[in-house]
Amino acid sequence: MSATGDLHVDTFLVSAGRPLPEPGAPVNQPVVLSSTYVADGTVNYARTGNPTWTAFEEALGGLEGGRALVHASGMGAISAALSLVPAQGTVVAPDTTYNGTVQLLEALEQAGGAVRRRHATDTAGFVSDLDGADLVWIESPTNPLMDVMDLRTVLDAARARGVLSVVDNTLPTPLGCRPLSLGADVVVHSATKYIAGHSDVLLGVTVVADDRRGAGIGERLMRHRTLSGAIAGPLEVYLGLRGLRTLALRLERASATAAELAGRLDGHPAVERVRYPGSGAMLSIDVAGDADAAERVCAATHVWVHSTSLGGVESQLERRRRQPSEPETVPDNLIRLSVGIEHVEDLWADLDQALRAAP
Ligand code: PLP
Repeated sequence: MSATGDLHVDTFLVSAGRPLPEPGAPVNQPVVLSSTYVADGTVNYARTGNPTWTAFEEALGGLEGGRALVHASGMGAISAALSLVPAQGTVVAPDTTYNGTVQLLEALEQAGGAVRRRHATDTAGFVSDLDGADLVWIESPTNPLMDVMDLRTVLDAARARGVLSVVDNTLPTPLGCRPLSLGADVVVHSATKYIAGHSDVLLGVTVVADDRRGAGIGERLMRHRTLSGAIAGPLEVYLGLRGLRTLALRLERASATAAELAGRLDGHPAVERVRYPGSGAMLSIDVAGDADAAERVCAATHVWVHSTSLGGVESQLERRRRQPSEPETVPDNLIRLSVGIEHVEDLWADLDQALRAAP
């Protein structure tokens, strides 16, 4: 049985986290705006809990198959997960991941910790680096290179060595991958992206497996959230849950369009390389030409929105190295494409004209 009970995931997305269907009850979990609660209830102060959070956490926990906590942003969730590394501890990680993670790992090194970096597809290297490590960080596909990791092998090896494993599951979403079922200890999400899906909120999630090992981890993550004070606003969480209702529909459309665009871009005269992981709604392209040529492509679109971020209903594109914090392992001429739910022909016509106009 899946963590969503007897329900198909599409149905669970619609029905999870709703109030009990009692006469007169609201159909949606309301936004609860209260910083404190009358004593002796299940919640006592809004930095430790909120009924709107609980609804969202029930939904995410069911989807990933563990216990979820909502955080103020994806970075809030990542910071909480990295707080599990002991002082002067060792982390194994891909050499290219989301740049916020890259920067936090650099900070961990500056504080006396060690980071062993491997190319995401170097599975044997990852496995050998696990000896004596405290935590392995996994992101697959990697953002923005779209490299796919061998999750099963790395997670099995981590578990066998007692190394804590964390998977950033933002790009696949729980519909594309359920890392806890593969043996991961913690999943993190930037729920800002596909989960909320409308580019209107920042939110993060951590999910911990329900096994004995997970119990202690869940408490530590909760403590980190409570004491760091990086908590999500109830309205943002309400919007996150509303966005989640349509995740399956949005992803179905966006993924089909991404596959079609990847095929058409392959062999396009203005494209040197297509980086498409084979599923999902993200791809990257290396433009034929330099950084300026890639910038001209981004500036020449009308339907695609030239903006950072991903996972919204609107298609977005960006030359990633325009972000000063992006690692140098990302080519200067790489454009990341987040495919939305517009009509495929409009997206293609817009991208094609921008690519042809740019050289
Ligand atoms: N993880 C991945 C894979 C991301 O792409 C991002 C943001 O782009 C984050 C984490 C950080 O999330 P947030 O911007 O919600 O803090």
